Amino acid sequence: MTVFQDFSIDPAILRAISDMGFEEPSPIQKEAIPKILEGLDVIGQAQTGTGKTAAFGIPIVEKVSPELGAVQALVLTPTRELAIQVSGEIRKIAKYKRVRTLPIYGGQSIGHQIRALKMGVHVVIGTPGRLIDHIERGTLTLDRVRILVLDEADEMLDMGFIDDIERILRVLPGERQTLLFSATMPEEIRRLANRYMKRPVMIKVTREEVTAPSIEQVYYKVLEKNKLDALCRILDAEETELGIIFCRTKRGVDELSEQLQARGYLVDALHGDLSQAQRDKVMGDFRSGRIEYLIATDVAARGLDVTNVTHVINYDIPQDPESYVHRIGRTGRAGKHGIAITLVTPREMKQLRVIEQLTRTRIQPRELPTVEEANERRLAQFVAEVKAMVEQGDWHPLVEEAAESLISSVDPRTLVRALVHYALKDELTLEPDSGYDFGETGAAAGMVRFFLNVGKNINITPKKLADELSQIAGVSVGEIGRIDIFDRFTFVEVSESAAPFVYEALKQGKLLGTRVFVEPAKPRSRR
Ligand code: AMP
Repeated sequence: MTVFQDFSIDPAILRAISDMGFEEPSPIQKEAIPKILEGLDVIGQAQTGTGKTAAFGIPIVEKVSPELGAVQALVLTPTRELAIQVSGEIRKIAKYKRVRTLPIYGGQSIGHQIRALKMGVHVVIGTPGRLIDHIERGTLTLDRVRILVLDEADEMLDMGFIDDIERILRVLPGERQTLLFSATMPEEIRRLANRYMKRPVMIKVTREEVTAPSIEQVYYKVLEKNKLDALCRILDAEETELGIIFCRTKRGVDELSEQLQARGYLVDALHGDLSQAQRDKVMGDFRSGRIEYLIATDVAARGLDVTNVTHVINYDIPQDPESYVHRIGRTGRAGKHGIAITLVTPREMKQLRVIEQLTRTRIQPRELPTVEEANERRLAQFVAEVKAMVEQGDWHPLVEEAAESLISSVDPRTLVRALVHYALKDELTLEPDSGYDFGETGAAAGMVRFFLNVGKNINITPKKLADELSQIAGVSVGEIGRIDIFDRFTFVEVSESAAPFVYEALKQGKLLGTRVFVEPAKPRSRR
């Protein structure tokens, strides 16, 4: 087993990684980090969700010298979102080292970026176009760069950045280490690697097929910001005996268990930082049913032996198919019914597909219970409880007095309404805000209409488009409405509930292999 301490890296980095809540290196990190530290060129085949960012981020922070006030590592990313995300992750890894990072992308004031660069930066993470802008203005000096990373290289090529990338490669010192990460390895990537990398080591962690147990497997698509709400609705709808909820990091475990406890769920946290006594107590509570859900990291759950686990919930998607199989194997033991539930954000949909492929299983999509369903369930339960209480008829002696006073002064209908409201006001949910308001798009009622900047020119047909959207966004074909395809653009309507997923998936993904631009349609463009 590899732990982070096995890598020859600065204790300051180990401390930062521990603060981030990582317990052990992910498969891609186990393979890639030692090679990168050795100074080799590395090609890593990995998508979002595998821990690829830290796989190159940790060695970068290790190798950069803070005393030298020059850009020493450069990371190219296809999108501004990714640049910001990668920069954020490297910054966290560098928390206890004086390594400065800066994301540079189009759309942000160039003046601001120039000032930030002048302050002295060690690691620059940027999109190709804006980087070239700075190179041409002479505001970004790259002659001390020792490490170059091409992140999501296939995406960059799809977006037509190949010329820009080659221009940047030509101004970099030849004496450097080049790392390339990509979810897929098409021919152009190999060509790029042959031209610009020195005897690269190929790392691919998810090549082997693994067998998933034959239990019910489902996924819910969720938006990052609504994950907690979505989980609560799932928990409310499930009949659970005992369940395990998996998070990626121990920090995630702590946060989630606090949030769920605050909402009144019977849960407790299990992770590697607990003492044996604490661990025994949590496990005792779990076995005896005093807690309903154990919240755990992969590491903490290793070696757990509990029967009767009816639910395994992947709050964070596992980092590789093996870990998926491991996690879900904790339910459905001894012929009992078990279910594995995975929450998937639009960015992680690719990772879900890889898991499906390598486990040769189809993980069925499910729709979150609607607010109406959740509320109805709670109301029905409340009415039943009150009726049972009326039958029993024994209440606290002091209740009588308050009841008499209310009955004599308030009309009975109004009184009952007020009491029901008082009892349930904090529990009945309102629609959680998806964070998206697409405004008036000229769509049919209950639908949102999107504009896409591709049409017949990439050979889409309504059927292909509907299939592809349902695949990449995880929505059912039934949620896709009217489709109008023109030569160079397309309008497509999707249900309001599916719209945020389709929008995020298209912003971050591709359609039939082509990068597209998507925006809510303008109402007047309806034909
Ligand atoms: P990435 O694949 O780089 O987009 O990472 C996906 C998520 O996994 C990010 O939130 C990372 O912070 C997290 N992560 C990366 N490495 C680890 C690790 N070894 N243990 C737990 N979480 C990790």
